Amino acid sequence: MNRRVTRLREKLAEQGLDALWISQPENRRYLSGFFGTAGFLLISQSAAILATDFRYTEQAAREAPDFQIFQSKGEIPAWLPSLLGGLPIGRLALEATDLTMATYHRIADTVKTAGLPIELVATEGIVERLRAVKEAQEIYSITGAARLADAAAEHCRTVIRRGMTEKDLAWEMEKFMRERGSGPTPFSLIVACGPNAAMPHHHPTTRSIELGEPVIIDIGANVDGYLSDLSRTVCLERQDRTYDKLYNIVLEAQLAAIEYVQAGRPAVEVDQCARDVITRAGYGEAFGHGLGHGVGLAGHEAPRLGPLSDAILEENMVFTVEPGIYIKDWGGIRIEDMVVIENGKARVITQSRK
Ligand code: ZN
Repeated sequence: MNRRVTRLREKLAEQGLDALWISQPENRRYLSGFFGTAGFLLISQSAAILATDFRYTEQAAREAPDFQIFQSKGEIPAWLPSLLGGLPIGRLALEATDLTMATYHRIADTVKTAGLPIELVATEGIVERLRAVKEAQEIYSITGAARLADAAAEHCRTVIRRGMTEKDLAWEMEKFMRERGSGPTPFSLIVACGPNAAMPHHHPTTRSIELGEPVIIDIGANVDGYLSDLSRTVCLERQDRTYDKLYNIVLEAQLAAIEYVQAGRPAVEVDQCARDVITRAGYGEAFGHGLGHGVGLAGHEAPRLGPLSDAILEENMVFTVEPGIYIKDWGGIRIEDMVVIENGKARVITQSRK
């Protein structure tokens, strides 16, 4: 059995859970290798089952050789009893942050109607915590995705010109990465110019890029299903004093936070480190989001680095460090890099110039 499933079984045993029903797509892929988009895993100490429908059974058998493939046909009540009936499961854990209420009720009703002695338990983050710590192969793929984003950021600097729309520039970068081997980008690439840059997750519009205004690009690529995330803020010609001042504050906050990253340190303290720099400069209110987030099979995953984070940083975690300052009607500055914790300290993965 693969190492990831073995580690999950240890976690289940520690928490007194007999089995976990995995519906979250990236968790499903992480544990099984199955790239299909429908189905779920059922993992207990003795069983590892991948249940999916007719469209995916052949693919599932190829991609998830460690798993027993169960073909589900029709609605949950039609097949769930035969799947669960033979297994010694008392406490069945569900992924509360993924499963819809409708599916939960169907499972609960089916278990009850079939008279199965199973208690359903809502859980959060069991597989996500395993995913937060990366294996060498995962870091290799993430680095490949980071290289593509780095190259696209450089490409942006050569093609960006006055009068180009946000959409045009976003498409230039997306095309650049796809032509060089990226899979579908992990999110719609962000290009936000002028006042639009005051919105951290602005969607590209037909607004034209003008001289002297901030342009935030936030891009990511996809290699083997592993993602990257990179933001740069650029300016065409004669940036104003505000731009220079804010850029330097954000950069100082980012570099301080990266330096402060350490295995064993609470993520909230690294967030605070960057926040202190920005607050001291008088812009604390203008940094309204968390400092960063994990990146892997999902674009946003554990660990979270924010004021409310309870994560402790560990060796081989990969995450972004992305402070920003956003000023309504002016625009914004964000600088985002990805780091991996190696030998206890942050090594910066993304290498695009700032
Ligand atoms: Zn990000």
